Amino acid sequence: MSKHNDELFKQVVSHAKEYGFVFPSSEIYDGLSAVYDYGQLGAELKNNLKTYWWKSMVQMHENIVGIDSAIFMHPKVWKASGHVDGFNDPMIDNKDSKKRYRADQLIEDKIARYQKDGKTEKAEALQQEMDAALEGDNLAALKEIIEKHEIVCPVSGTRNWTDVRQFNLMFATRMGAMAEGSDEVYLRPETAQGIFVNFLNVQKSGRMKIPFGIAQIGKAFRNEVIARQFIMRMREFEQMEMQFFVKPGTEMEWYAYWKEARLKWHKAMGIPAEKYRYHDHSKLAHYANAAVDIEFDFPFGFKEVEGIHSRTDFDLSQHQEHSGKKLQYFDSEMNQNYVPYVIETSIGLDRLFLLTLCSAYEEQDLSTDERTDSRTVLHIHPALAPVKAAILPLTKKDGLPEKAREIMNRLKVDHYVQYDEKDSIGKRYRRQDAIGTPFCITIDHQTLEDQMVTIRHRDSMEQERVAIADLDRMIADLVSWKNLLS
Ligand code: ATP
Repeated sequence: MSKHNDELFKQVVSHAKEYGFVFPSSEIYDGLSAVYDYGQLGAELKNNLKTYWWKSMVQMHENIVGIDSAIFMHPKVWKASGHVDGFNDPMIDNKDSKKRYRADQLIEDKIARYQKDGKTEKAEALQQEMDAALEGDNLAALKEIIEKHEIVCPVSGTRNWTDVRQFNLMFATRMGAMAEGSDEVYLRPETAQGIFVNFLNVQKSGRMKIPFGIAQIGKAFRNEVIARQFIMRMREFEQMEMQFFVKPGTEMEWYAYWKEARLKWHKAMGIPAEKYRYHDHSKLAHYANAAVDIEFDFPFGFKEVEGIHSRTDFDLSQHQEHSGKKLQYFDSEMNQNYVPYVIETSIGLDRLFLLTLCSAYEEQDLSTDERTDSRTVLHIHPALAPVKAAILPLTKKDGLPEKAREIMNRLKVDHYVQYDEKDSIGKRYRRQDAIGTPFCITIDHQTLEDQMVTIRHRDSMEQERVAIADLDRMIADLVSWKNLLS
């Protein structure tokens, strides 16, 4: 990470805390590693991001429906899905610092350093070595790579490593009153399995015809070996996933469709195209026949935000086998039963939240020849912004607060708006800029005479006089979901 970007990331993290977007969990007890709470504005922004996803996936597609399945599932689900046996990360401990790392991430950091130093060939060779070791589940080879490339612990600076071991990422707990004799259950590490096990319930009760999709938003839990980069890698996080069930043989068409549709969805938020890129997987999981990540250019580099995977009939077939229940679709046109193939789109809500903050954050120098001035502004799309408008009486007297409250009471039915009468109008504008409020509505003495207010636009800082009678329609148009969904 360059010094500039390092600085930007620190600013975003501290801004998120200062303005009530994200707090460390249980902070008065010194926090809980890789667990975060969303504050008053964070909860609003997160809800808006969820709504954007839900509307575009469910509401805008006649053949996609949404569900909300439980976090706890029958333990056999995770045996069938492969998570009990295969949801592992290779980890290694440094004996001096007592710190634990993911072996593959230590090597990836080394590859990035080679690349930064212009040692492209060395970087490529190391990448190949690592891929081969990971593909063969060869833990000894990973250790050898770490030793050969003299990778040191970032904390102790030593090469005093343990062997590489597998570490299952699922959290287990016990169901039932008695710990002994009760069943071990897992906190789900992904939301997708809740969709697969409900495939027939939804298909039959909703009379769904292939191709169709099932979407859901919900918490997922992973005991990440190392958690870092704020809300980028958490132990409790939220996913927005959609499984699209298709006729076998048509999956590559649908994969191409969703690959394009999902990137378009990201760009509609007004984020520049160059901030995104695809990363096509060259090595595929045994059940996948195509996979791509949508990566975003975070201040710490391009990282995965969303995955689009063509998963064949793997999941439904596995559940069929482990449950003994048929999970098939009767295709009336073909007069035939089959297990559908699945295209999955899976996005991390917290990573989406982080990319929204990182791309929105700007420190603007507004200095003129006469005076120095600056502001911190969040350029969040108006439909996604936590607060849609601030209602600001110019002074605390002369009937202006009453008029402002009257406007506030009308707007708050449809929009989350804030009332603020403290400090100078300039300071109040700055406070709203800092939380990304797209519009400030100022009520002044003239308002009482002509029933007009001043609307100030966050990004351009331009102001215009608007009739109170037109406010509802104008704000509704400016923050409408129509500006994001088409
Ligand atoms: P990574 O390689 O970064 O660990 P992954 O490939 O394991 O991610 P998936 O299993 O494909 O991730 O999960 C889908 C999405 O869920 C990811 O694209 C990411 O946005 C999000 N996600 C996964 N793990 C975490 C986490 N620990 N914290 C926050 N979001 C996560």
